Amino acid sequence: MRSLRSEKKARRGPPRLRRALARALSPVFRRIGEADLEEVEERLILADFGVDAAARCVAAAEAGARKGDGVLESIGREIRAVLGEGPGGALQVAAEPPSVYVLLGVNGAGKTTTAGKLAGRLAEAGRSALLAAADTYRAGAVEQLERWAQRSGAGFVCGQPGGDPASVAFDAVAAAKARGTDAVLVDTAGRLHTQGGLMAELAKIARVLGAQHPGAPHETLLVLDAASGQNSLAQARAFAKAVPLSGVVMAKMDSTARGGIVVALKQELGLDVRLAGVGEAVGDLEDFDPDAFVQGVLAAP
Ligand code: GDP
Repeated sequence: MRSLRSEKKARRGPPRLRRALARALSPVFRRIGEADLEEVEERLILADFGVDAAARCVAAAEAGARKGDGVLESIGREIRAVLGEGPGGALQVAAEPPSVYVLLGVNGAGKTTTAGKLAGRLAEAGRSALLAAADTYRAGAVEQLERWAQRSGAGFVCGQPGGDPASVAFDAVAAAKARGTDAVLVDTAGRLHTQGGLMAELAKIARVLGAQHPGAPHETLLVLDAASGQNSLAQARAFAKAVPLSGVVMAKMDSTARGGIVVALKQELGLDVRLAGVGEAVGDLEDFDPDAFVQGVLAAP
C-alpha cells in the first residue's frame, strides 16, 4: 500500500483536525478533574461519544483513579484503545490500475467535495485521476463535480441525465484503463425516491465494478457530516447493509462540537474514520490519525 499523503502536509504544522477538535471539544473536558464522573459521562454523550463508549471511558476513569491516574489521562487511554491502530488515510492502491474509489453518503454530507479534494491530493502526489459523476439525478451535482475535475486537472465522465449510474461507473473505469489513469473516484447519489432504491443502486455499482476490474472497488468510503451526530450511526448502518464499507470520511470536522461520533462509529459499528474534512478548499482533507484525535480531544482550551 502506498501513501497518498503529500510531503507538504507534513510541513504545514499541527494538523488542523487536531486544532479543530481542541477548539470544539475543550468545553467537554475543561475542568474535568473537578467534575464528578456522572457529569463527565453526560458531557461525553452530549459530544456524541455514544452511550457505550461514554460508559467505557467513565469505567476506565474510575479504575484509573484507584491507581492514582488522572481522569483525563485514563479517558484518553480508553479512547485510544477503542480507536485501535486503524488503517489510516492512505488509500489502497490496485495491483493493476486504475484504483477505484467509491464515495457514498446522504445528500449534503460532503461526497462531491471529498471527491474533488481526493483528486487534488492524487494530483499533488503525481497520480492521475478521473472523476465519475454517478449521481445522474441532480444536474447540480454533475456540474459541481466537473468544476472540481477542472480545478485538479482530473478527467471527468458523466452519463445522460437520469441514466444508469452503474454504467457511468463502468464507462469511467473503461476510460481510465484506455487512458492509463491511476485512479477513478466515483461520486454517487445521496437520495432516490426510496431508500431501498438507493441501496440497490449502490450495491449494483459495486457489483458491476467488481465484475469489471479485479479488486474493485478498492475503497468504499462513507462520507458523513460530522455535525449529523448520532444520526450518522443510523446512516452508517443503512449504507453498510448495502455495500461493505472500507471506512468513513468525516466531513466538516471544522464545524462541529461533537467529534465524539468518531469513537461511537468504531465502538458500535467497527467502522474506522480514514480521512477528515476540515474546510471547503482542495487542501482541506487530512488523514485521520487516532493519536492526533486523542490529543485534540484532550487538549487544554
Ligand atoms: P454531497 O451532496 O454529499 O456531494 O455534498 P457536497 O460535497 O456538495 O457538500 C455539501 C456542502 O458542504 C457544500 O457546501 C460543501 O462546500 C460543504 N463541505 C463539504 N465538506 C466540508 C468540510 O470538510 N468542511 C466544511 N466547512 N464544509 C464542507
